Amino acid sequence: MPLAERTRTGIAPRLAVVSGWGGVDAAAVSVLRPPDLDALRDEVAALAERRSPGAIARGQGRSYGDAAQRHGGTVVDTTTLDAFRLDPTEGIVHAQAGVTLGRLLAALEPAGWVLPVVPGTQHVSVGGAIAADIHGKNHGSAGTFGAHVRALGLLTASGELRQLTRDSDRELFAATIGGMGLTGVIVWAQIALRRLPSPTLLVDTDRVHGLDDALALLAGRGGEYRVAWLDLLGPATARGVVTRARHADDPGLEGATTVSTRATVPARWPGGALRPSLVRAHNAYRFGHAPVGARAVPQSYGAHMFPLDGLGAWPRLYGRSGLVQYQFVVPRGQERVLERVIVAVRRSSVPCYLAVLKDFGPAGDAPLSFPLAGWTLALDMPAGAPGLSALLDGCDEWVAGAGGRVYLAKDGRLRPDAMAAMYPRVSEWRAIRDRHDPDGVWASDLGVRTGLIAGAR
Ligand SMILES: Cc1cc2nc3c(=O)[nH]c(=O)nc-3n(C[C@H](O)[C@H](O)[C@H](O)COP(=O)(O)OP(=O)(O)OC[C@H]3O[C@@H](n4cnc5c(N)ncnc54)[C@H](O)[C@@H]3O)c2cc1C
Repeated sequence: MPLAERTRTGIAPRLAVVSGWGGVDAAAVSVLRPPDLDALRDEVAALAERRSPGAIARGQGRSYGDAAQRHGGTVVDTTTLDAFRLDPTEGIVHAQAGVTLGRLLAALEPAGWVLPVVPGTQHVSVGGAIAADIHGKNHGSAGTFGAHVRALGLLTASGELRQLTRDSDRELFAATIGGMGLTGVIVWAQIALRRLPSPTLLVDTDRVHGLDDALALLAGRGGEYRVAWLDLLGPATARGVVTRARHADDPGLEGATTVSTRATVPARWPGGALRPSLVRAHNAYRFGHAPVGARAVPQSYGAHMFPLDGLGAWPRLYGRSGLVQYQFVVPRGQERVLERVIVAVRRSSVPCYLAVLKDFGPAGDAPLSFPLAGWTLALDMPAGAPGLSALLDGCDEWVAGAGGRVYLAKDGRLRPDAMAAMYPRVSEWRAIRDRHDPDGVWASDLGVRTGLIAGAR
């Protein structure tokens, strides 16, 4: 990869083409990879002077769309910020922002602690988890990742390293949680942990023959980690499998909080390996072999939480044109919108290869945080499928009309009018951001595309 001119601090940025996990809309950027926190501080101070379309932090690049890139601008690679320290007495981990949740989980497990919220992959950074205010399968009981952040260090546009807490800097703290990197670079965080009696979960599994059954189980009693896999290619509108899991108390049970990659998809299929017939057969097998009503079956925490991490580079299955994940939430009482979207997807020519439904508890206090009390549905579809754009534009209208929203960490296509309709606190967030970054140092393709921030400098 060619190197660009050295910066004032002597770091040579690398010219690279980067994209999100979905592999759509790649951007040519200049990547700064400061070796340590001091170098990062110097670089950020220099960024403000540079004429550039803006800079944005990047963690593990696991957001699906264009959140961690800026066409023609700078990407601040945070992966070198990877130190952490556990305070086992207080149950707090002090972690630099580039550490992955997987590394933290592996180190916390022997000490009997676990992160209170994890997403569907262990390969995300602490910075990315805070910037997207991620949720897990236990949102109803634990809220978002941001709810467990006691304090964080933020490098602001002026190059100042601010220590923020919910009490001392309420506004900037809340704007940074879920703020998609647009308030600055998070460099460290203190995260409150929860006790881990055993790295094993006890899992209840139920087969369901339609959406209403899935919703009823997700709303009912049972373990706190709840999720439904739905088959949108099968004969019924949305048959599927619901799991509800809880922590086992028995420390003697075998398990691990992380998983290893068992195989990696080769870069062999430019046109993609997935076909509706193939996935339909796979789904029928999965549905047919799921227990009809199993109770308290032990399963390793890592295998349950991160099922996709066993297969490396799995987006390659979608081929060069990549994949889009459409994840939205609608409030309780708006369940018919879920059905409407599912029916529209099934009737369209766009195949949905993976559909996952979860319940959410009450919203937090961060203005751009995604979850709100209701239901979230995530749909994986090939980005090159004809009719995808029109299909999702229509879904946006139903979701916004129901008081719902699309998840920015998964998004690569939302338009400014839809964004404004879905996130009613966006002007409050923008006012805070503009106060702390009046010259628009921080910018991402997502930020500009959705109108979160003003266009190119
Ligand atoms: C298989 C899979 C499953 C997933 N499951 C879930 C899920 O269940 N729940 C959920 O909520 N999300 C889920 N996600 C999405 C993922 O958790 C988020 O996109 C997360 O932000 C990715 O972290 P990252 O380190 O890869 O960040 P990146 O993708 O690199 O960046 C994401 C955003 O965070 C910002 N950012 C990154 N680091 C910093 C920093 N140090 N300072 C400031 N801003 C920063 C970037 O600017 C960008 O806006 C999933 C993703 C995948 C691939």
